[in-house]
Amino acid sequence: MPEMPEVEIIRRYLDQQLTGHRIMNLEILLPRQIKWPTPEGYRAMAIGRAVEHVKRRGKYLLMELDNGNELVFHLRMTGRLVYEPEGQSHDSYARLLFQLDDGSLLVYGDTRTLGAVYALPPGERWRLHGLSEMGPEPLSADFTPDYLLEAVSKRRTPIKTLLLNQNVIGGIGNIYADESLFLAGIHPLRSAMSLSATECQRLFTAINRVIAAGIEDGGTTFRDYQNGEGKQGHHQDHLMVYNRKGELCRNCGTPIEKITVGGRGTHFCPHCQEAVQ
Ligand SMILES: [Zn+2]
Repeated sequence: MPEMPEVEIIRRYLDQQLTGHRIMNLEILLPRQIKWPTPEGYRAMAIGRAVEHVKRRGKYLLMELDNGNELVFHLRMTGRLVYEPEGQSHDSYARLLFQLDDGSLLVYGDTRTLGAVYALPPGERWRLHGLSEMGPEPLSADFTPDYLLEAVSKRRTPIKTLLLNQNVIGGIGNIYADESLFLAGIHPLRSAMSLSATECQRLFTAINRVIAAGIEDGGTTFRDYQNGEGKQGHHQDHLMVYNRKGELCRNCGTPIEKITVGGRGTHFCPHCQEAVQ
């Protein structure tokens, strides 16, 4: 569920709180949540090390340690990372507890245990294909109108499906894909390669705008998302189509429709997003 804006909100907060602090101990309550290396190997790579930075790539959070190792968190549907200054976990689904040198606690909680946790030595991001093969992300220098035009021109897949392909663009998930297509006035089922250069430019601008607005609003909260303080975002109040099936389009008053595209629930306005060129 957390997409790039939500993970960025978590990153900013954790970077403030954790940088310079040392991991004194680690309690692993659910070993299988650690995908690489073994739980023992993970402990050896983390304990005693200080946090240098908390970084992000797409939807991955990367905690860089002072020995160059990276603790990687992919929250997927129900994962969350919450900083507890008092050192007490309030999460009944806590899976990993990082005890820091100032008595605070970093809690990795995950209701359905779908998230994935890794520790990587320097230069070993290749172990994680989702990370090493990720395409450029919105708001980055590598993500340009020309890049997007090139990416769509080679693919017959529906444009909605292309936006969710992390190897093409990193960080966009279901919410921001639907919102970007609405803002650009493009039907989610349009074949990617059918987009004109003008539509591609509109889509490029729309993607950057919805991602920036999501960050500005502190992220979107449905169900499980929490920021690093355990609080919710409020971008859900400003969504144009996502999760608004049957509600009226904020532009034209037409009821928002929901269809399935590539197995994903997809919301759009049948009036503002015309299918045929
Ligand atoms: Zn409309």
